[in-house]
Amino acid sequence: MKIVVMKFGGTSVANLSKIRDVAKIVEENSQKNKIVVVLSAMSGVTNQLQSYVEEVSSEPSRETDLVITSGEQVTVGLLSMILNREGVKSLPLLGWQVPIITDENHEKGRILNINNETIYHHFKSNDVIVLTGFQGISVNGVITSLGRGGSDTTAVAIASSLKAVRCDIYTDVEGVYTADPNVEKNAKKINKVSYEEMLEMSSMGAKVLQTRSVELAMKNNLTLQVLSSLTNTEGTYIVNENKLIEKEIVSGVSYSKNESKITISGIPDKPGISAKIFGLMASNNINVDMIVQNISQDGVSANMTFTVLTKDIELAKKTLERNNNELNYTNLSTDSNIAKISVIGMGMMSQSGVAEKMFKTLADKQINILAISTSEIKISVLIDKKYTDLAVKTLHSVYKLDNK
Ligand code: ADP
Ligand code: ASP
Ligand code: MG
Repeated sequence: MKIVVMKFGGTSVANLSKIRDVAKIVEENSQKNKIVVVLSAMSGVTNQLQSYVEEVSSEPSRETDLVITSGEQVTVGLLSMILNREGVKSLPLLGWQVPIITDENHEKGRILNINNETIYHHFKSNDVIVLTGFQGISVNGVITSLGRGGSDTTAVAIASSLKAVRCDIYTDVEGVYTADPNVEKNAKKINKVSYEEMLEMSSMGAKVLQTRSVELAMKNNLTLQVLSSLTNTEGTYIVNENKLIEKEIVSGVSYSKNESKITISGIPDKPGISAKIFGLMASNNINVDMIVQNISQDGVSANMTFTVLTKDIELAKKTLERNNNELNYTNLSTDSNIAKISVIGMGMMSQSGVAEKMFKTLADKQINILAISTSEIKISVLIDKKYTDLAVKTLHSVYKLDNK
């Protein structure tokens, strides 16, 4: 049995008319293969649900996950109804009905196991299974969600687990671009990109694929295609590095505006202090990204700056304040008016001068760099949020990525 996984994002199922268009694409594909369709909620719905729960409490819980995963149930039901009326044998499934088992980390659940047997069983009498993205259930029977953008991860997980022949991620742009095409009008569509580059692009802010979905695809060596549900054109393939003939020095520029900076001043400069600070963050499930430490002139105290997701900033601040009897800092400040700009490319491994070019370009535009972090194939800088568009556009042009 050949299985194809097709995932449609929020804008592709934004209303009934778009869901009917999706039904046509699915119907066409169901002539040759069995299809698992993975759906998001209608665009805007998860945001609305999230804002309801946040008015009550900002702590992720079994209730918040129950509410925010409900949008997917609507789209799945509607698409399956339409397909059946069109004569395509379709069955709707919620995450718990498979089940897609996750840990119990609310709003960032990780998939532990998928029961394929349910899918194979239902394919005996159906050609299409329409499955909710984003939803999971813990071993204790508690509903969970996979983090924002998590339907991508549902699709990759199910495709890997069923050894699908294809996993296509349909969205509102024609593929992965050299920069967000909604910000940089000169961005070019990339035909093929390596898992590593895509991983960096996603984790540095390109929300076209959820970072975890890329991680999982790489682990399972699953080729992904990102393509448009609106135009019938080939998209971008995310592939193993050895399938790339040409390795671009810089293949893309990403930005992220969802991070905030914490600066702790006057902490004692002694062994164990970093372990204490970041241990506190880890035990509260707060991901830390960039870290800069400055030793003071006196050699006795130090300043530490690091970034976390803005949604975690209050919790991070409270946690540090609560533990100041052990940390003994003199001042703590936070800043959410920042953006992270990254340039990414496999060719950086063998080419020097990429960082220098980035820093000089920003300096020429009078943009101050607040922090820097690098990997083998990426350089990121923290800047004032108001310069985001200027930085993206200027770097895109300087690295010759413009589509002209
Ligand atoms: P979906 O609802 O289909 O999951 P998303 O909104 O999550 O769609 O992701 C698609 C969006 O990702 C695009 O509309 C685009 O603005 C944004 N995006 C950011 N960076 C990139 C990039 N490098 N290439 C393509 N899209 C990008
Ligand atoms: N509906 C969820 C979200 O908006 C999951 C997804 O779209 O991937 O985050
Ligand atoms: Mg998405």
